[in-house]
Amino acid sequence: MNGGAAGRRVNGAAAGASPAPAAADAAPYPRIELHVHLEATVRPARLLEIARRNDVRLPARTEAGLIRFCRFRDFDHFIRVWIKTTRALRHERDFHEVVVDYAADLAAQGCFYAEALFSPSEPMARGTPWEETFEGYCGGADEAREVHGVDIRFTPDITRDFPVAAAEDLVGWALQYRERGVVGVSLGGSEHRYPPELFARPFALAREGGLRAAPHAGEVAGPASVRGALDVLHADRLRHGVRAVEDPALLAEIAARGIVCDVTPTSNVLLGVAPSLAAHPLPRMLAAGVKCSISSDDPVLMDTTLSRDCAAAVSLGHTPRGMFEHALGGVFCDAATKARLRRLGAAFDWEGAGCEGSRSPAGGGAPEAGERVGDGLTGEWVWKPR
Ligand SMILES: [Zn+2]
Repeated sequence: MNGGAAGRRVNGAAAGASPAPAAADAAPYPRIELHVHLEATVRPARLLEIARRNDVRLPARTEAGLIRFCRFRDFDHFIRVWIKTTRALRHERDFHEVVVDYAADLAAQGCFYAEALFSPSEPMARGTPWEETFEGYCGGADEAREVHGVDIRFTPDITRDFPVAAAEDLVGWALQYRERGVVGVSLGGSEHRYPPELFARPFALAREGGLRAAPHAGEVAGPASVRGALDVLHADRLRHGVRAVEDPALLAEIAARGIVCDVTPTSNVLLGVAPSLAAHPLPRMLAAGVKCSISSDDPVLMDTTLSRDCAAAVSLGHTPRGMFEHALGGVFCDAATKARLRRLGAAFDWEGAGCEGSRSPAGGGAPEAGERVGDGLTGEWVWKPR
């Protein structure tokens, strides 16, 4: 964040150490995940297995070594760690497995709908055809729906650090996969180096083709980046948007327009976007009337889970029901899926589950964990006590 992360807190808590969502994360309430990078959901053991299969040398050969390597210092270092670890993902089978694995994690956390990101420009630059990446992720979503009852849609991430021509190619492929679950496009990478205005044309092509826009903005760059995302890219949703608090008029506009911000507390603290969880901008955003969904961003690299980020948001004054409803207001899926999500939220006993108005993370005295039943494709998501 404009160099502000240097020298401050790093993710010393073993990034990637979690073998699975901890028992404490088991979901007492339904959640929606709108901002997660699939490449950063791969646990070290799986990453090593894929690297061996693809004959790719990672910076470490053991899980512990990989976890040590992933302790990033700041945003630029995080990007370097990302590139050196995710380079193991090369083939359709790899991307497919990544989605199915993560769907299992989501189901365990009471999340049955996610809009996930992936960055196909990077494998493309290493020689993986666009089609292999899109097929892998979209095929994985089909299996995830059947096996875990989790619906995953995609907003592939245009990497700012690549030429704009690559962004236009990405949009072309995203449009071809609209019927396979691609609902929008995102913009990621070095926000502080490449402003949104550079990507006006690919976002216009996406919009003309019926895709929605959810760029990263207001994370490592300030209000000007958010302004560009809104005015030039016509963002329907903002990934982060947290630095809009530096411009009260901009924050008020985001609230008035009902633009949902996908806020990721753990990631923001680890990357220095917020100096600490206590000083996170979320309460100011909520007070201004901004709708904030809560997400995990890069769960394994950040050693977090969706549930832990939701607990962090509750500690900052959000409510489980508010998180669900704000996210529901921002989803890009078809009307029938959105209606199913709405019914899930409406049927859940938020008050009885002890998560209405609570300022503390759901925990002791908390309700039984829930589980969903239904066929996942057309059946209802039903929350039942275990
Ligand atoms: Zn992100």
